[in-house]
Amino acid sequence: MISPDLTNQFLAIVDPARWLDKKEQLFCYAYDAFVEESMPEAVVFPETTEEVSQILALASAHQLPVTARGAGTSVCGAPIPARHGLVICFSQMDRIIEINTKDRYIIVEPGVVNADLQAALAPDRFFFPPDPGSMNMSTIGGNIAQNAGGPRCLKYGVTLDYILGLEVVLASGKIITFGSKNIKDVTGYKLAALFCGSEGTLGLVTKAILKVVPVPETVKTIMATFKDLDDTATAVTDIIGSGILPAAMELMDQLTLNAIEDKAGLGLDREAAGTLLIEVDGMAEACDKQIRLILEKLHAHHAVHIQEAGTAADRERLWTARRSAYGVFAKLAPDIISEDVTVPVSRVPEMVRRIVQIADRHKLRVGILAHAGDGNMHPMIPADKSNAEEWERVMAVFDEIFRAAADLEGTLSGEHGIGLAKAKYLPLVMDPGTIDFMKTIKQAVDPDGILNPGKFV
Ligand SMILES: Cc1cc2nc3c(=O)[nH]c(=O)nc-3n(C[C@H](O)[C@H](O)[C@H](O)COP(=O)(O)OP(=O)(O)OC[C@H]3O[C@@H](n4cnc5c(N)ncnc54)[C@H](O)[C@@H]3O)c2cc1C
Repeated sequence: MISPDLTNQFLAIVDPARWLDKKEQLFCYAYDAFVEESMPEAVVFPETTEEVSQILALASAHQLPVTARGAGTSVCGAPIPARHGLVICFSQMDRIIEINTKDRYIIVEPGVVNADLQAALAPDRFFFPPDPGSMNMSTIGGNIAQNAGGPRCLKYGVTLDYILGLEVVLASGKIITFGSKNIKDVTGYKLAALFCGSEGTLGLVTKAILKVVPVPETVKTIMATFKDLDDTATAVTDIIGSGILPAAMELMDQLTLNAIEDKAGLGLDREAAGTLLIEVDGMAEACDKQIRLILEKLHAHHAVHIQEAGTAADRERLWTARRSAYGVFAKLAPDIISEDVTVPVSRVPEMVRRIVQIADRHKLRVGILAHAGDGNMHPMIPADKSNAEEWERVMAVFDEIFRAAADLEGTLSGEHGIGLAKAKYLPLVMDPGTIDFMKTIKQAVDPDGILNPGKFV
């Protein structure tokens, strides 16, 4: 509980212009892109690590729950202040401190928006590979805390693969730094792996040293459509299984494609049961060869129409289609749940079949959108949460989807995280000893449990 006296102590740390505690101001910080909400008692916007440290020390002294927030684009309820208390929003800590392409690193504050970072790197012809569909909004702090991925993570890997070092403030207010500016550094424990993906439950990231990579010489993008969704999925496993590694390989089913076409009118094939958006990058000759091999595979799996993006504008059109999928789906019903199960890529066709069967059995529409090349599936169900009977069916579908993924040796999340959405399903993919070990770590760094309480640990 934040008493007036405690408020004054916080206001001795930050200017009142960076403190919100009126009910109407707080609503925006009660939810993310998931379907639950819970109000904070106040929101604070620190500008420096020192302020974050003082805020956390004070919160610790009063056992006040604290939840970090970037842009609130999480789709699993991770930044929702489930136990109320204080939200620390990092939007004012958005400086790009250093760009050093010679040594291939950058140093940034957590509130930098992913797309702004890409824009800042573009003149040097470098980029930061993690490219979540939310890249125009989501922040680097949120990307780190969720270990975000995205289409090109098929070839390039996820956020964790790009963290060289972090500055983190622990619940006590203590500031720790680890890692370095070196691309190779195996000194001591790999602490980045502990904090990355921890959803703000272990410490708050206030600075990051990130690896960046040169923009490839050539990019080629194709879109293939299929009459049969099963052919679409088997084409994926065949391409990846034969050792071709595109930069991205995105699958969309008919419902998703039509939702995009209804909204954006991009000339997509409404009859297609499945579509693959495939991108290769690298040296021009290598790209040509890869595309040739991919085309052979697509034809072998009965692709009916294949178009190549001839210009940058064409390529942008195809990616706009893919990136708008979540937004246009949200137009189909008042609520939408987008899930994130991952299976080994050889099991993608089976997982697609199971998702369709499960949704059919419960008489619900499901859209399938997948970073298919790495087995990461985003089944999306548009529904109305205020219709209790329908919502129960939605929950039953996701329950069965999680179990199907576990059954196929998959996992609960490939990139979106656990948050409020999937905490209860952890035992499906983690044994009790592992869950206990996570609790031991949490207890060691946040003994009073003030950081993002009510989440997966
Ligand atoms: C349209 C859409 C498309 C998306 N596409 C993708 C996708 O392709 N891939 C993907 O991985 N995700 C995707 N997401 C999910 C989401 O955008 C990512 O998880 C993103 O990384 C969240 O960033 P954020 O800044 O919005 O963080 P928030 O949602 O504000 O917070 C996310 C988590 O990070 C914690 N956090 C935030 N800042 C810090 C910090 N400085 N220190 C410690 N913890 C912190 C929060 O407490 C919370 O637990 C998508 C979401 C939407 C709405």
